[in-house]
Amino acid sequence: MGKLRGFVEYERMVEGYVPVEKRIKNFKEFTIKPKDDDLIKQGGRCMDCGVPFCHSGCPLGNLIPDFNDAVYNRNWKEALKILHSTNNFPEFTGRLCPAPCESACVLGLINPPVSIELIEKYIVERGFKEGWIQPIKPKRRTGKKIAIVGSGPAGLAASQQLNRAGHLVTVYERDSKIGGLLRYGIPDFKLEKSIIDRRIEILTLEGIKFKTNTEIGIDVSIKKLKKDNDIVLLCGGATLMRSLPIPGHELNGIVQAMRFLKRQNQVIGENFSKVEELNAKNKNVIVIGGGDTGSDCIGTSNRQGAKSVLNFEILPKPSKQRTVENPWPYWPFTLKTSSSHEEGSKRQWSILTKEFLDDGNGNVKALKTVEVEWIKKSDERPKLVEIEGSEKIWPCDLVLLALGFTGPDKEIINDLKLNSDNTSKPFTTKYQTSDKKVFAAGDLRRGQSLIVWAISEGREAAYEIDKFLMGSTELASKVHGDLPSVK
Ligand SMILES: Cc1cc2nc3c(=O)[nH]c(=O)nc-3n(C[C@H](O)[C@H](O)[C@H](O)COP(=O)(O)OP(=O)(O)OC[C@H]3O[C@@H](n4cnc5c(N)ncnc54)[C@H](O)[C@@H]3O)c2cc1C
Ligand code: SF4
Repeated sequence: MGKLRGFVEYERMVEGYVPVEKRIKNFKEFTIKPKDDDLIKQGGRCMDCGVPFCHSGCPLGNLIPDFNDAVYNRNWKEALKILHSTNNFPEFTGRLCPAPCESACVLGLINPPVSIELIEKYIVERGFKEGWIQPIKPKRRTGKKIAIVGSGPAGLAASQQLNRAGHLVTVYERDSKIGGLLRYGIPDFKLEKSIIDRRIEILTLEGIKFKTNTEIGIDVSIKKLKKDNDIVLLCGGATLMRSLPIPGHELNGIVQAMRFLKRQNQVIGENFSKVEELNAKNKNVIVIGGGDTGSDCIGTSNRQGAKSVLNFEILPKPSKQRTVENPWPYWPFTLKTSSSHEEGSKRQWSILTKEFLDDGNGNVKALKTVEVEWIKKSDERPKLVEIEGSEKIWPCDLVLLALGFTGPDKEIINDLKLNSDNTSKPFTTKYQTSDKKVFAAGDLRRGQSLIVWAISEGREAAYEIDKFLMGSTELASKVHGDLPSVK
């Protein structure tokens, strides 16, 4: 344990932000690095609990008290070693994770929890700055060939683990750059793309091959990929976007959030030109959907120079505190206000869009909505009821649909005749599909989720693949309790 009674002495600290009026002028990350002495104190707040609930909160099983202690003792290199032993990419989770570990932290019962995510981010950033993060090449090659379809966090984590086990790994990506939703979904102000590039450089030096602009099923058939490799791992994500098929949905100016966010990422990262339909400049914008994607649309719209930004959510406004039905250490379903919400947007709760209205030239000019109530009878799921007389018209020029994703593309799953559920998510046992040569991980397997889960699934799938191919494995696994020895 770092500092006896450190949690009494030191208050929780989080990162500062560049002021709103300054940060919305560009797409750069806007967090302010705390001083090392302050970070160290944050590590000293950890109680090194006998039963560290933070562990079970983290899908990766990060060894949190151990790296907190190392940071408190200024042993940053040791902290990095501990962190990397369970997480291939702490620079992504340290920036973007909703931190279920912090929600589960025992200190959270009576005090603000340990700033675990903040500590994680600055351990890995220190590692890059000091040059401690270097390619690790496998000592021997097994001669086994593995093809990974999709280069999001699941595919990348699996590729690094499998390469370290000595297999020859090629990652196929249909987009022109590597990273999946890290690259094309999440905006630069949350994750500058140079952060992805420096990690890809290391993976490439470790021996992993990347083939971009290559869509499996179109440029190369899945059957050929299977024939040419010992194993195929499907990490194509949950890419099918949910639509809103109400009257007027075909009008111009109604755009899927991912098209909008992708174009902005391409404008910055690949010098693509701006497209009027996919730009919020001088427009009244309504974002439908109150999740992470909706929040990213708000931040992007404000940076593009939107006139106004409104955000609609069909669910009721959550409470600020945990309720009795939602106790610690479970994930808190409380009101979340992101940095993008703070930058200028009005949020409307319990609201249902009924119709998009036409300006007479095929463009959207307004939305018609009703307010809704969620009625819950005991033992039944809450039922949505429209409130009579609550109709309202909301003028707008651009509507962004951030309604989530329904599942993976069907083609590969169908071509391989994999057993799957009604959204085409393949059924798996230990990440292996009904075709023994084909494994699956990430959002494609579990449905729309989080980066930390994608990395976890990539690691666990790699563990199972190595074991399947070689009979045993030295890779780490949280599920099997085979956590690495780092001391
Ligand atoms: C806008 C947005 C913001 C988000 N913000 C956060 C956040 O702040 N924190 C968080 O934890 N999570 C966030 N998420 C969720 C997170 O990004 C995903 O859960 C995660 O990226 C899933 O990883 P994955 O590797 O399974 O799939 P993806 O990241 O979706 O990657 C799949 C890749 O496979 C490629 N592919 C698909 N089919 C083929 C094919 N046939 N051939 C070749 N390539 C193919 C795709 O092009 C894509 O690059 C966000 C999601 C979105 C959409
Ligand atoms: S639960 Fe919180 S206080 Fe306890 S070991 Fe984990 S981070 Fe430290």
